[in-house]
Amino acid sequence: MNNKTAHELHNELKNKKISSVELTEAVFAQIEKVESKVQAFVTLTKEEALKQAKAADERIENNHNLTPLTGIPIAIKDNMCTKGILTTCSSKILSNYLPPYNATIVEKLKEAGAIMVGKTNMDEFAMGSSTENSGLHPTNNPWNLNTVPGGSSGGSAAAVAADECILATGSDTGGSIRQPAAFCGVVGLKPTYGRVSRYGLVAFASSLDQIGPLTKDVTDTATVLNIISGHDPKDSTSVNISVPDYQKSLINNIKGLKIGYIKELLGKGIDKEVKVTIEKAMKKLAELGAELIEVSMPSFEAAVATYYLIAPAEASSNLARYDGVKFGHRSKEAKDLLTMYYNTRQEGFGTEVKRRILLGTYALSAGYYDAYYLKALKVRTLIKQDFDKAFAECDVLISPTAPTVAFKIGEKTADPLSMYLSDIATIPVNLAGLPGISLPCGFSNNLPVGLQIIGKAFAEETILRVAFTYEQNTDWHKKKPQL
Ligand code: GLN
Repeated sequence: MNNKTAHELHNELKNKKISSVELTEAVFAQIEKVESKVQAFVTLTKEEALKQAKAADERIENNHNLTPLTGIPIAIKDNMCTKGILTTCSSKILSNYLPPYNATIVEKLKEAGAIMVGKTNMDEFAMGSSTENSGLHPTNNPWNLNTVPGGSSGGSAAAVAADECILATGSDTGGSIRQPAAFCGVVGLKPTYGRVSRYGLVAFASSLDQIGPLTKDVTDTATVLNIISGHDPKDSTSVNISVPDYQKSLINNIKGLKIGYIKELLGKGIDKEVKVTIEKAMKKLAELGAELIEVSMPSFEAAVATYYLIAPAEASSNLARYDGVKFGHRSKEAKDLLTMYYNTRQEGFGTEVKRRILLGTYALSAGYYDAYYLKALKVRTLIKQDFDKAFAECDVLISPTAPTVAFKIGEKTADPLSMYLSDIATIPVNLAGLPGISLPCGFSNNLPVGLQIIGKAFAEETILRVAFTYEQNTDWHKKKPQL
């Protein structure tokens, strides 16, 4: 039963065909069976999960306060604070960190009655595109264990694909929900910046980070979005506007919608088979009644470079708090305060995190600030303007989610630049603060290909509608990896 979607399971729970305890046990039986191969989790919370499942069953029995997620097992990315439960960001520096509070989204999911089964592996501090930067262990792609699951939410995507949970949360700073969703053949949505509270999300690059769902189909994505969206007084960047009922956007009809395909993301640097797969998806969308329009985004050429100034700049500031004093790892090798800082950070951070702190500190330092950081902010505005222009004629934009399918473990670790290019199609969306979804649209080399649909700010409803229509008229989302 753990291979089903949340909406299917919700009906079975409600009709007492199954109990949440049975479902949670089935999820843990699957974890027992496949986790040694996939390694999606860093912490499992079975005992607490079974307690919550029992409480959910009582809630169902009494028909009290039911939500579509009551009794449904969910995995949480390990950069979201869980009260009294390890929250490591897959980093040695937080390897012993027990948060004294829950992130807002964790609190909301708990209130809805969802069952947390564990915390998922990720690239350290969400810096990476393959989960190989985890300071704990790598995660393997359920479709081919020799390939990466994508990143940084690779643990969450792999856990959903391997049926080790029904749903998961991820965070997306430059593609970290959508790219692993594409690599693992699941659905992943990055909401508009400000749609979902970031309170309790360990900060990487605060002007780009957003939390979103990873699920087995578009309906479940709408369900989770309904529960986690909305203003939070604890996050001043969460926007205080009403949240629509996203279930209502699940309309199987895109007649007359204008869909722009981004010329630059179907050209140089995009794998040939990925391109062919996306072109087939475009044909399908046209058959379903959409009007396809070519759009050009000349500024995208500079998007990756821009991101790798802005994100590290913000990270270098955000990560200054890990000094061994307040929480996390503290070096035992220290004769004075300054050496304690040095050694704590030297021992606690991995190579990629150090690389980003160096890059960011450099870009923000006197003399370079104007030349690099400020310049990057200006290019960010140009990217936003390219989107504005395209959205003047289109309802949504589409592209491949990633330029390739999942690559081999180790293939890109020695070459950070080629790793950075994995996010060429997703990064511009974060820089402009827009919502984007990735959903399965075919295979290349027996590995899933993801279609990205980008919307106007706060127009999650439109991308959900296009995604739902495509999904209802294809069956890619029903394919499962053989583990
Ligand atoms: N892969 C990108 C990076 O390494 C994006 C990561 C993310 O979205 N968290 O920064």
